[in-house]
Amino acid sequence: MSHHHSIRNLLNIKDKNITFDENFCAEELIKGVQSKVFYGQLTYQPKACYACGHVFDDQIIKHGFKTSLIKMPSISGFHTYLKLRKQRYFCKHCHSTFTLKTSVVAKNCCISNNTKVSIALNAKDKISEKDIAMKHNVSHATVSRVIDSFYSYYQPNVHYLPKHLCFDEFKSVKSAAGAMSFIFCDSETGEIVDIVEDRRLHVLKEYFLRYSKKARDAVKTIVIDMYSPYISLIQEVFPKAEIVLDKFHILQLFSRALNKTRINVMNRDKKNYNKIN
Ligand SMILES: [Zn+2]
Repeated sequence: MSHHHSIRNLLNIKDKNITFDENFCAEELIKGVQSKVFYGQLTYQPKACYACGHVFDDQIIKHGFKTSLIKMPSISGFHTYLKLRKQRYFCKHCHSTFTLKTSVVAKNCCISNNTKVSIALNAKDKISEKDIAMKHNVSHATVSRVIDSFYSYYQPNVHYLPKHLCFDEFKSVKSAAGAMSFIFCDSETGEIVDIVEDRRLHVLKEYFLRYSKKARDAVKTIVIDMYSPYISLIQEVFPKAEIVLDKFHILQLFSRALNKTRINVMNRDKKNYNKIN
């Protein structure tokens, strides 16, 4: 396995056109902070001129490099950057120059897509934007922008819902019209399906009716807490789903945990297996 491949793996870079120098990493002072900097190069033959679209030929020639300092997700607690030399080309057909593109980072941006994804994922945790900004070594404004870009066009798949759902609510932003927001997840995997800013029933009803009937009918159980106002909503929107009160959900988790422990103990002591069983 080449060292290029290993470093791409370490940095979670999919673009195989990026290769690394022999001394691929060093510590550098960046904006006054000791940081890990990786040195790479992006080069490949483009299919056509980015400016005029002329198919690549000998009139499109290499024209030096443009170096970008790209912010990567932290490694070992260090701020991490990729200093990437991107190949430039000059097109004799249209007399313009262009710089090669890579999936690592958007055009004219110095924050890697991986960092943006990491910020967006963090936004789903109960953590403030200010803390996310600190953690990723970016400005608060960047965090807001990234979150907006990820979630404004986030459209859940209205033709699919997990079989087992869990409804919950949480206090979100001050501007949320209903003061509390609604969140629902796959109760088996714990993965968040979506968040609805306003948890009032008429809003939720409208929201869930956007899902196809087939998707809603496929939902088998919905976990809610004991004093939930969601019962009428579920009966109306998820006629085939069984309502599971959280009390039982807790018991279920409890019994699963007990079972797990019991199996662990049994496995440790195979001789007395039958006695514990
Ligand atoms: Zn051109």
